[in-house]
Amino acid sequence: MNPFTYERASDQQTALTLGTQPGARYLGGGTNLVDLMRETIEHPAILVDVTGLSCAIEETGDGGLRMGAGVKNTAVAADRRVRERYPLLAQAILAGASAQIRNMATVGGNLLQRTRCGYFYDDAAHCNKRTPGSGCDAIEGFNRMHAILGASASCVATHPSDMAVALAALDAVVTVEGRNGTRDIPLVDFHVLPGETPHIETVLEAGELITAVTLPPGFAGRSSYRKVRDRASYAFALISVAAALEVQNGVVKEVRIALGGVAHKPWRARAAEATLKGGPATEVAFRAAAQTELASARALRDNAFKIELSERVITDTLVKLTALQEIRK
Ligand code: SF4
Repeated sequence: MNPFTYERASDQQTALTLGTQPGARYLGGGTNLVDLMRETIEHPAILVDVTGLSCAIEETGDGGLRMGAGVKNTAVAADRRVRERYPLLAQAILAGASAQIRNMATVGGNLLQRTRCGYFYDDAAHCNKRTPGSGCDAIEGFNRMHAILGASASCVATHPSDMAVALAALDAVVTVEGRNGTRDIPLVDFHVLPGETPHIETVLEAGELITAVTLPPGFAGRSSYRKVRDRASYAFALISVAAALEVQNGVVKEVRIALGGVAHKPWRARAAEATLKGGPATEVAFRAAAQTELASARALRDNAFKIELSERVITDTLVKLTALQEIRK
């Protein structure tokens, strides 16, 4: 590990002053960043510890919740308001990592965790994300876990967060502070696709600090987070589905679907949603909508199974949400 300076920010202004210094990185729980430093993938000159800032979950006044960036994942998943109004978010966090990791990881840090592509962690491999312009060994290599949507000729990595997939379905908004003031960024626009610059993963500008994530008023229908992984204990998603559905008289009144494990960012399934709204809440319609969303999917050598798996899990998740609403009538 390279030498670095550690500073604990006592307030937001101090954090921003320290965070704009060359080589500075903000430190949340460190559950990913410290690993990357040990592996010599990341080499920050200054670590600015922001875990003492923004540690509350507050009502927004319109029925929503504002989660400070420093709130631990455990606290989010255990919050009664989150469990009652945004159950898919609690489910996603609980599916994401062990209790030990959840006790350390923060809301802000979760959003900024980096891909678990094996070639990214192997400094003997070619990786455009780690070393821009060096190539991508995953494209012709072992790519079972890699992207089927929105990938590029430069990078086929997936985003590892479960929490962010739920936030994408919930229309969450990320608040950031920087030299030019405050910005509110829809979660779905916070992460970016790889294009020719896969080392750029978010729209954050240099020195900008995530301060909060706001959840709009709760979805009226039913919601859930489904994660398919290679083993029952903690593992990154092969695919995951965060879905919320409201059905009235057999018709889809409102629906939101986001996918994880399939793209460089949480993937909001807008095409599927548009296909479903106002139509019948049937298994046939759910499958057709999933197929519409996946029409642009492109498989690599080892991950073609993800396309059919995604179709099945989207369909089954919506079928189960519909059945739950029928039961509760
Ligand atoms: Fe690197 Fe992306 Fe290629 Fe993985 S998929 S080796 S992260 S460029």
